[in-house]
Amino acid sequence: MNEVGRKTLFWRGLTGSVEQRKRYNKLITEADSEISAFLEINPESGASLLRKNSESQTSSPLSGLPFGVKDNIAVEKFQLTCGSKILNSFVSPYSATAVSRLLAAGAVPVGKANMDEFGMGSSTENSAYKTTVNPWDHAKVPGGSSGGSAAAVAAGLVPFALGSDTGGSVRQPAAFCGTYGLKPTYGSVSRYGLVAYASSLECVGVLADSVEMTKNVFTVIGGKDPMDQTSSNGSVNSADAAAQPYTIGVLSKTEGLDPAVAEAYGETIEQMKLLGWKIREISLNTQEYVVPAYYTIATAEASANLARYTGIRYGMREKDITDHENMVRLTRENGFGDEVKLRILLGTYVLRSGFQDQYYVRAQKIRTLIRNEINTLFTKVDMILMPVFPTQAFRFGSQEMTPYQQKLADKYTVTANLAGIPSLSFPTGLKSGLPVGLQLMAPDFCESRLFDAAGVLSGGRSIQLAPGAMSAGEVS
Ligand code: GLN
Repeated sequence: MNEVGRKTLFWRGLTGSVEQRKRYNKLITEADSEISAFLEINPESGASLLRKNSESQTSSPLSGLPFGVKDNIAVEKFQLTCGSKILNSFVSPYSATAVSRLLAAGAVPVGKANMDEFGMGSSTENSAYKTTVNPWDHAKVPGGSSGGSAAAVAAGLVPFALGSDTGGSVRQPAAFCGTYGLKPTYGSVSRYGLVAYASSLECVGVLADSVEMTKNVFTVIGGKDPMDQTSSNGSVNSADAAAQPYTIGVLSKTEGLDPAVAEAYGETIEQMKLLGWKIREISLNTQEYVVPAYYTIATAEASANLARYTGIRYGMREKDITDHENMVRLTRENGFGDEVKLRILLGTYVLRSGFQDQYYVRAQKIRTLIRNEINTLFTKVDMILMPVFPTQAFRFGSQEMTPYQQKLADKYTVTANLAGIPSLSFPTGLKSGLPVGLQLMAPDFCESRLFDAAGVLSGGRSIQLAPGAMSAGEVS
C-alpha cells in the first residue's frame, strides 16, 4: 500500500466508533492547545450530522475522514463567526454545499478553523478571538486568512480542511505552513454557505496533506449547484487536452523575493527541466496594477456585503439602546475590528457617487486587461509558475511586515482571483527550517492539469508534517 493509502487508514481509524471519536477529540484538543488552529472542536457534532446523512457513500475515498472548516463556511449546528466579534455566538442553521457534499461522501467535519476577520488579512492576526501560530515555528504567523485551516493540516490534526480564497487566502497560508492549497476556478465550487466578503473574487478552496487528497476533495465539492447561480460544471466534466511534457511560463524578472523564495523558484524550474518540461520566460505587464485593482474591487464589494451586520438580524447587538440609529452605529463600532472598518471605509470611498468612474470602473477595466493578458499567455504555455508570497512566514506584530506591506505582497496571488483561473500552491521543501510554497496557475477549469503536474513534482509523496505533529504512533 502506498503512503497516502496508509495515512488514509490511519485517519479512518480515528473516527469510527464513539470511543475512537472520544480519543480523537482528546488528541486533537491537546494538539490544538499548542497551535490554536481551531475556534471550535466538536467531532461528536460532526458525526451526528453524518448519521443524519443516511445516504453517505462508504465507497468514497473520503469516507470516514475528519476535516476542518474555516469559520466563514457554514456547518449546521457549529458556530459561524468569520473570526469577528459581530457574529459572536452565532450558530449556523444549515451547511454550505461544499460541506453537505463532503458529508454525503462520508467525511466528518470536526471543527471550525480560525481566520482573519471576514477573510481580511494575510496572517490570521486579525482574528477577534485567538492567535494561531505556525506549527513550524511558534514565533511566526501561519499566514492568512485561512491560517487555522493550514495550521491544522500542517500539524496533522486533520488530513484536509476547507478554506476560502479571495486574494490568496488559501494559497498563502498553505505556502507558510507547507501544505497544498487549491484556489479553484471561480464558479467551479458552490459558494452557497460561504459568508460573502468580495463575491466576484472569492472561492471555497482546499488545504490538504497531499495532491491526491486535494484532488479527491475538489472532485467531491465541485460542480453545479442550484443554490449558487455562479456555479458551473466546468472543472468536474472537462477533458483537458494538455499533457506532459508541459510548457511552463516562468517570470523573467522576480525582484523583491526573499532569497529563500527565489532559490526555491529556481530549483523548481530546474526540476521541471529535468522532467523534460519546456520553460518559457514570460512577463506580466499588468502585474503592477493587480494589487490596486484587487483592493478597489474587494473593498467595494466588502462595503456592500458587510452592510447586513447591524445587530438586527445576526450575532451581536449593543444592549440598552432604544433608538435604531445608535444601536446600528454602536453595534458596528464595537463589533468590527480595525482592519474591517478600514476596508468598509475604503470601499465606501471608492463607490461614492460621482467617483465611481475614477476608481471602481477603472479597476474593473484593469481586471479585464489582466484576464486578457493571462488568457493570451495560456495560448503559449500550459501553466504559469509563480511565487505565492515574496517571503516565508513572518513574525507576529508589524515589525517585520506592516499591514500595508502585507497588502503589497498579495501581488502574486490576487492575479488568479481577478482572472478567475485556478491555482495550486504546493510545498517545495524547507529553507532555514520553514516551508516555502510556490503556485502553478492553469486556464479556467483545468484543475486536473494542476493536480497532474503537482503530483509529478511531489513524487506522489504527502507533505512533511510540522515537528511534534499528531501522528499514527500516538493512536495505536
Ligand atoms: N490578503 C488578502 C486580503 O487581505 C487575501 C484575503 C483573502 O483571500 N480572503 O484581502
